[in-house]
Amino acid sequence: MAAYTPETKCSFCPGSKCCTYVTQRIPGPRSKRDFEELLWQVSHRGVEVYKDDDGWFLLFDSPCEHLQADGRCGIYARRPFVCREYSNDYCEFDAPPEEGFELYFRSYEELLAYCRRRFRHWPV
Ligand code: SF4
Ligand code: SF4
Repeated sequence: MAAYTPETKCSFCPGSKCCTYVTQRIPGPRSKRDFEELLWQVSHRGVEVYKDDDGWFLLFDSPCEHLQADGRCGIYARRPFVCREYSNDYCEFDAPPEEGFELYFRSYEELLAYCRRRFRHWPV
């Protein structure tokens, strides 16, 4: 087996975690209507919501179609810029991203419980 170096680190990463989801920044929800929309979105399989230091995001748990069975990128030489600029210095292999989340909703029930705590009168 290859020595563990920054160049070989990804080959030690089971499932190539960083290639198995996408995130999309969203405006921070404020109103009940905003949260109603989030409840609809998080109700879909593989859709999660989190908030960290950079704001609110949707997380789509969906592996990249270019991820090969051996963990390599099938379009490495022409992979998108987002992939090129991503550093493995300190990544999901080192610590789960949710450690840095202020809020994390993986299901309708989790977000609904938060809405009930946040708004005195829920639902609308
Ligand atoms: S950058 Fe990190 S999470 Fe992504 S494949 Fe490499 S070690 Fe795994
Ligand atoms: S294009 Fe390649 S590097 Fe980028 S997410 Fe897909 S498999 Fe990973």
